[in-house]
Amino acid sequence: MKLAVFSTGADLRAGVADPDQGIIRDVTSVLGGPDLTAVLSDWDTTRAALEDALASLPAVPLDSVRLHAPLRPVRNIFAVGKNYRDHVREFGRSGYDTPSRSEEIPDKPIIFSKATTSVTGPYDDVDPHHGVTSELDYEGELGVIIGRGGRGITAAGAWQHVWGYSVINDVTARDLQRDHKQWLLGKSLDTHCPMGPYAVTADEIGDVDTLEVETLVNGEQRQHAPVKDLIFDIPTLIATISAGITLLPGDIIATGTPAGVGIGFDPPKFLVSGDVVEVSITGLGKLRNRIG
Ligand code: ZN
Repeated sequence: MKLAVFSTGADLRAGVADPDQGIIRDVTSVLGGPDLTAVLSDWDTTRAALEDALASLPAVPLDSVRLHAPLRPVRNIFAVGKNYRDHVREFGRSGYDTPSRSEEIPDKPIIFSKATTSVTGPYDDVDPHHGVTSELDYEGELGVIIGRGGRGITAAGAWQHVWGYSVINDVTARDLQRDHKQWLLGKSLDTHCPMGPYAVTADEIGDVDTLEVETLVNGEQRQHAPVKDLIFDIPTLIATISAGITLLPGDIIATGTPAGVGIGFDPPKFLVSGDVVEVSITGLGKLRNRIG
């Protein structure tokens, strides 16, 4: 099932999208509001109600609505640095990996976060923040959406806590990331986390190892890698984060980006106003964001 948040006027609505049919059905009444996060912890009940009601709910053309980010994060998005081997090497070579510049594969997951206010819609413009950064970069990533929360989740039990997935562009201000050492500022500028177009339930995807991440800039392929290339897989990430932090329903984990980001090129290929970045993942859909 592909859940979405959309609008045709001022108010936000929750929807179930069928991109193959080109339609979206308004399920706001079934969910009790437009906030998907509110129903994640008791999804089985909501899912049954949705399946009962879906066919009777009116469908509108998908291309007639505005899609927003499918989730409003409950807190900062968890994100993972240096989680694909070839990206570790390009990042180490680039000189932007400070203070401990390294091309070595990390032996523990590197976890950072992105502010909630960085989240924006799947087709919204990305603010270039002229005067704040002049080194804007993209990172196409698989986003994992937590359903049932918990602490001390084992890797073996981790899949039971995965509600589903979405596509994320972990837009990064490289100069801020480098100069401030901690990554929060460089990763968190407003609109620097496009997400969507849907929140897709895990059962619709099955084995994430079959998924591929692809990023295009102005139609040119920059990133293309299978999710099975993750150094630390999804169960390991969930076990690592939840060891001492309670994961909450609606938490989002951006799992890391493959090789091919802008700083991987010599000279670097930073984004400029007017560029269009597309990130797609098998079965999850595609983000398409213009740099404003
Ligand atoms: Zn990233």
